[in-house]
Amino acid sequence: MTIQSKYFRFLICLILTLNAGYLQAQETANPPAIINTSGVWLKGDLHVHSRHSTESSNNSIAKIINFSKSVGMDYLAITDHDNHVNGDVAHHTWADPEFKSDTLLLLYGAEWTTTRGHGNVFSDKPYDHKRLYDIRDARDINIEKVKKSLGIHLSANHPSGKDNFGFSYDLVKSIEVWNSAVWPKNANAIMIWDDMLSSGRMMTGRGGSDTHHGVPTATEKPSANTYQAEFNYVGTPTTWVFAKQRSLTAIIDALDHGKAAVSSNPFAPRVEFYADYKGNGKFEMMMGDNAVSKGKPIKFQVQLIGNKLPKEQYTVTVIKNGAKLNSFQVSGEVPAFQFTDTPDLKGRTYYRVTLEGKNTDYPQVPKSAGLSEKMVALSNPIYFNFDPKF
Ligand SMILES: [Zn+2]
Ligand SMILES: [Zn+2]
Repeated sequence: MTIQSKYFRFLICLILTLNAGYLQAQETANPPAIINTSGVWLKGDLHVHSRHSTESSNNSIAKIINFSKSVGMDYLAITDHDNHVNGDVAHHTWADPEFKSDTLLLLYGAEWTTTRGHGNVFSDKPYDHKRLYDIRDARDINIEKVKKSLGIHLSANHPSGKDNFGFSYDLVKSIEVWNSAVWPKNANAIMIWDDMLSSGRMMTGRGGSDTHHGVPTATEKPSANTYQAEFNYVGTPTTWVFAKQRSLTAIIDALDHGKAAVSSNPFAPRVEFYADYKGNGKFEMMMGDNAVSKGKPIKFQVQLIGNKLPKEQYTVTVIKNGAKLNSFQVSGEVPAFQFTDTPDLKGRTYYRVTLEGKNTDYPQVPKSAGLSEKMVALSNPIYFNFDPKF
């Protein structure tokens, strides 16, 4: 080996090492927060059972709504089991005189409770739920036709747990990646989500507390499950949506298009995730967006909004195509950082982030933070080269 070639190899090694170090490093720590003025962030719970689900206890709709308002929720989906009312949610949950609010946006929906598992329906207006209930045991291809004609958003529930969604994922636009305050049981749901994303589906990840039991009032009797209200209730977890305006239609649209992030409770920070696609410092892409990769490096920004524990350090992990790309330590009132990566020129690439650290207390559901362990928040993906017509 000549001196020159040895020197050349050394140089290559040095460049590779420096490059690896560059990727590991937090490129820009605490850049200014991106303020997205094209919509509003709304927080809510997408999986709540009221007294119209027969196994619930002390959970009237009025109680659920009052609690939700007291912790600052903007919207709510009361999703009672449709089989408990023979599919007629229109004359039960939706017809309940308590099903109204001056400030809280109430989605129309139900939990589609079938032999092949559970899914949640979300709609901005009343629809004929009985038709979906009646076709629950049919072939997926026939269910799809009914679902389409109803104009509803169907979502896979607790995909890795009991009564997991056992239908084709082609029927759904979103998946419950975080069910109830208990984080560890959701690990397999995340695995299924990553498989769906990797296969080319732009599928929104969402949360849902699946709460059934309220705190009894003075005149109510506690049930054997009353203790659960301290561990899991409205907001554990909380799903944030970035809606074009404060309306039911805009909430569904955000859920359709991945404009959503999940936090362990309403007081935990929310994760926002952007990409500077044009390289002009404007970060015009956000979660849910899809663009054609030019095979050039792209700068991304992750920021945590509403952090009440500025002294705590969080670990943000960047997931690229289902595998960990990198992780970063952040702290501060609006912790943020930027990193750079190059999406594949030809193939599909998606990026999403998770946030771990000390969970913010939720005094109204005092034992929930412990069940969520270190999981604080997760984003939806930013996509490259996905087929919008998939
Ligand atoms: Zn269920
Ligand atoms: Zn449920």
